[in-house]
Amino acid sequence: MAVQTGDPRKLTVAIIGGGPGGSSCAIKLLRDAGRYCRDIEVFLIEGKDFQRHFNQCVGVLSPPIEEILSQQLGLTLPEEIIKRQIFGYRLHGPTDEILLVGHPDAGATYALKRAHLDRMLISEAAACGANIIHSRVTHVEFLGGDPPLRVRLYSEGQDIEADCVIGAFGLDDAMLSTFEQVTAYRRPARWLRTFITKVYTEESAIKQKLGHVIQAYLLPPAVPGIEFGAITPKDDYIVVNIAGETIDSEHLQRFISLPAVRDHLPNDVPDELDMFEGRFPTSKAVNAYGHRYAMVGDATGWMRPFKGKGINTALMTGAAAAQAILEHGVLVDAFCRYEDLCQDLLRDHIYGTTIRNLALLGSRFVLDAMIDVAKTNPVMYDALFDAVSGEDSYRSIIHRGFRLPIIRKVAASMLAGKLPQRRRKRRSTLDQLTIRKMTVRDIDAVLAIDEKITGKPHAAYYEAKVAA
Ligand SMILES: Cc1cc2nc3c(=O)[nH]c(=O)nc-3n(C[C@H](O)[C@H](O)[C@H](O)COP(=O)(O)OP(=O)(O)OC[C@H]3O[C@@H](n4cnc5c(N)ncnc54)[C@H](O)[C@@H]3O)c2cc1C
Repeated sequence: MAVQTGDPRKLTVAIIGGGPGGSSCAIKLLRDAGRYCRDIEVFLIEGKDFQRHFNQCVGVLSPPIEEILSQQLGLTLPEEIIKRQIFGYRLHGPTDEILLVGHPDAGATYALKRAHLDRMLISEAAACGANIIHSRVTHVEFLGGDPPLRVRLYSEGQDIEADCVIGAFGLDDAMLSTFEQVTAYRRPARWLRTFITKVYTEESAIKQKLGHVIQAYLLPPAVPGIEFGAITPKDDYIVVNIAGETIDSEHLQRFISLPAVRDHLPNDVPDELDMFEGRFPTSKAVNAYGHRYAMVGDATGWMRPFKGKGINTALMTGAAAAQAILEHGVLVDAFCRYEDLCQDLLRDHIYGTTIRNLALLGSRFVLDAMIDVAKTNPVMYDALFDAVSGEDSYRSIIHRGFRLPIIRKVAASMLAGKLPQRRRKRRSTLDQLTIRKMTVRDIDAVLAIDEKITGKPHAAYYEAKVAA
């Protein structure tokens, strides 16, 4: 299939991968082409049929997902694909825990089935005019010298010639190797392995065990190697996942058998569970763009380590690459503009890495103390909420949370020792809850459900507010 290269306003863009990165790039290119007087043809090549296959994912969409969809792509999240709204995270430290709920003015977090999101986005790309090709790309060639004039993609079906190629194939090993062979691109050097399983159960059991709260476990000491684990409620099933650099499926089995995890799972978890394995990048790729190519989504490694929000990152990078093409074209200078558009994301990467490293170094010793302080200190409470939910930038969390008075409080809490006994005594003095700024009825309901589940009031934090 040949490209017409004579008209500089006409561009053919081939996108490898129809996940959130690839679909958002296609939608943005086609929706905004008119505004830039561009005539754009898009080929979106996706190897999976999302009616039958799916990309491994927990399916949690965090803020500002709705802004990204509406402002970048002109889309709203269809209600029918939302399985559950998430109102909080229960953060489990080595021996202590805290329920962290968001501000009423914060954006919403949703749990959904990932295949439904991929289906929705790829259908939208098709509706905008993208040529969807269900095939796997097997090789890429840059033609016409240096800098190249065209790109040719080979696939299990037809071959395609284009003015540029967008690599939206996630961490697909074959495609990463292909681009390493034919460009200066180098894949993210580090990543976390992740294992995931689903536990099907009655909705009533989910309400009883989890409500609308994600259980988050940081570095559980009983299973070394796990950096974090989570239990996420959906509609008639629960997703359990873990991540770590050196974990395997046995870590997931051991995680599931921990009492603090069992407490939030149905009583009848089968012994044999279907497990899936995946990866998150934790470092940036090298030369993520060049003449006539740019990576988006996971292939860039631009997702922040810790709470990365990979779907948001993929949507944002896909849309930013499209904007750079529309404004500046497809050579390396144009894609420098792409990197500029992603500066917020890129600047936060170092802070995300710092938080992850601090958590790895110190969590076993300080996490319980931080949780203890967060129960009476709004700054620490907000910092923990923002870190676990990914609500704010890590830069802002570090600037707010790492202040001398807070560090002193955490140190004092560590030194005081025997935190659980002290905390229990303080909680028992409280009989009334005052919800900080939280007039949202949903959040009240979550607190009530969570109290029922744990048998404990969320007292200490609010005690300080009442006293203040
Ligand atoms: C277990 C797990 C759980 C996760 N949970 C969450 C979560 O809850 N929330 C969140 O925000 N992020 C989550 N993430 C991260 C998130 O899934 C990714 O960051 C995001 O999907 C990246 O989007 P992408 O478009 O770059 O790549 P992908 O979503 O991986 O999409 C790549 C697409 O390219 C296609 N493809 C690959 N190679 C070829 C080829 N040669 N030819 C044609 N097509 C090809 C694939 O079939 C795929 O559809 C999770 C990741 C994992 C592994």
